[in-house]
Amino acid sequence: MQSAMAKENPSERQAAPAFQGDTDQLLNARIVIVDDEPTTMEVVKAYLEETGYRNFVLIEDSSRALATLERQRPDLLLLDLKMPQVSGFDLLRDIRLHPKLNHLPVIILTSSSDNQDKLQALDLGATDFLAKPVDSSELQLQLRVRNTLAAKAYQDRLTFYDPLTQLPNRHLFMESLDWGLTSARDDEEKLALLCIELDQFDKIRDTMGLLAGDEILRQFTLRFQKVVKGIDMMGRMEVDEYVPVNLFRLDGGVFTLILHRIHSERDAASVAACLLEAIRSVLLVKNTELYLTASIGIATYPMEEGDSHFMLQLASSAKDHVKANGGGTFQFSSRRINTQYQQRLSLEARLRKTLDRNELKIYYQPKVEVQTNRIAGVEALLRWQINEATIIPPDKFIPIAEETGLIIPIGQWVMGEACRQLSAWQRGGIAPIGMAVNLSPAQFQNKQMPAVFKQIVKNSGISPQSMTLEVTENMFLDDVDRKIESMRHLKDQGIKLALDDFGTGYSSLSYLKNLPLDELKIDRSFFIDLFKDAKSRALVSTMIYLSRSLNLTTIAEGVETDEQLSFLKKSACDLYQGYLFSRPLPPDELFEMLLPANG
Ligand code: C2E
Ligand code: MG
Ligand code: MG
Repeated sequence: MQSAMAKENPSERQAAPAFQGDTDQLLNARIVIVDDEPTTMEVVKAYLEETGYRNFVLIEDSSRALATLERQRPDLLLLDLKMPQVSGFDLLRDIRLHPKLNHLPVIILTSSSDNQDKLQALDLGATDFLAKPVDSSELQLQLRVRNTLAAKAYQDRLTFYDPLTQLPNRHLFMESLDWGLTSARDDEEKLALLCIELDQFDKIRDTMGLLAGDEILRQFTLRFQKVVKGIDMMGRMEVDEYVPVNLFRLDGGVFTLILHRIHSERDAASVAACLLEAIRSVLLVKNTELYLTASIGIATYPMEEGDSHFMLQLASSAKDHVKANGGGTFQFSSRRINTQYQQRLSLEARLRKTLDRNELKIYYQPKVEVQTNRIAGVEALLRWQINEATIIPPDKFIPIAEETGLIIPIGQWVMGEACRQLSAWQRGGIAPIGMAVNLSPAQFQNKQMPAVFKQIVKNSGISPQSMTLEVTENMFLDDVDRKIESMRHLKDQGIKLALDDFGTGYSSLSYLKNLPLDELKIDRSFFIDLFKDAKSRALVSTMIYLSRSLNLTTIAEGVETDEQLSFLKKSACDLYQGYLFSRPLPPDELFEMLLPANG
């Protein structure tokens, strides 16, 4: 049985399709009774409840019946013929014409001994009859209901499930996709449809035979189900026990997967990558080792807008496109997302080689004392120099480095390079300054980080007290205790900690008192409107006051004008950073600035 409630995914209702012998599934069937006499309905219900049925909807007003049936999608309807307003005949006729209700089994409740009525109801598609009053035919009622439901369950199984893989088939897929798109629209959620085809399936089946083909499909179904079960997407997707049935087999070597409630297109890409990985590992069929690949096309809502047929067509043509180009990968149906992904993939591939190729550079931006304009320190800012003319800013590649884990070696390199540079400058005779390095949340996930950093600082010969690590507020969204512990390790070595981009992230201030901080950096967004907006001035003054009260050094970021600087002087801000004093500069240019003659 595959009927569904208003907000219930049709494929979720029953992970395992009900079968004739499966009593519990039968007892769970949804039974609607339409009769203008409430007592009749109550009696029928009471008898059926005695047997164990538990899922009833009673409708007295037959004019509301069709709408309720559409919403409830029951497994069985018990219908009175003689009713005011809409008669049982009318309703039966409407049901048989309804695209989604036309297979609904209908048992007619009739006191009428009029055979003409019965014949007419049969003509209109009644499944069976029950004589009213029901109390005299209790056993008959049980038997008729049970048999009708069992027949429907069997029929549903044949209609909605693929006998080879036991996966729901194209019919149930189309219903689920319809449902998914409607819910996604109603709840403003994102949905992805993956269309998956095993690349060499037809060829292998032709050469190894039909049975081998079946075996391949069964084995891949198991692998796909395992992937779907294992999707955790770092909490980005809601996964429940029903997820496996969101996998469908359409025909031949073609499967589909519906991902409900995804957070971004990237979720769909990750699942596609996992499926491809699962397919790639060797398959043993008839003592032959097979290496297969698949082509996957992905259509996402709301990026694409259309009905279920349109979405399937999009995903399927994206899949065909992959296949025509040799298979073994995935592609989005939207050109825009595809281009983004192509760019991202090539950037990712290049990023993996940056360290070997010496393409990463560090620029340094002075941190300057507000009152004296003396350089108190510098901040190391990473640049990726792809070639002589092209420099990629950190915002473009740090997120990729974070996702791929490359941030760990890159972060260690930055730390090593910044320490080495400071040591070289010191040997070059500059006045003592501090060095600040930015850290991503992902680096704090790495348990070894504090120890590794300690070693790096030690090897460079500089004092740990001259180092500051800058972290952002979004770092404390999860796993706070662990991260605070890592911060304390760093502090114990003498390294200072700054809270970067303050005021833009996490909204709770209570964490400020728990963090072992030394500096607070007010985000540059507050300075953009400083003189257009009195509220920005109020916020900046308050943040400076807050920072002072907590005994922290306050730094203003992104100071571009003299007016901004004089405001900071009046507000007793300690340090500032910004284009007014200097942009981030390559090390040799900054060295010139640091030499005593220029200081
Ligand atoms: P951030 O740490 O807040 O760095 C300040 C950013 O503001 C820098 O951008 C800097 O060039 C820019 N900036 C400074 N003064 C001004 C100004 O007066 N006006 C304007 N419009 N901008 C100014 P950048 O270098 O592009 O860095 C962006 C972000 O990338 C940094 O923000 C930091 O979060 C991250 N980042 C940079 N290097 C690293 C690194 O080595 N590791 C990690 N994990 N993140 C890094
Ligand atoms: Mg910073
Ligand atoms: Mg900042």
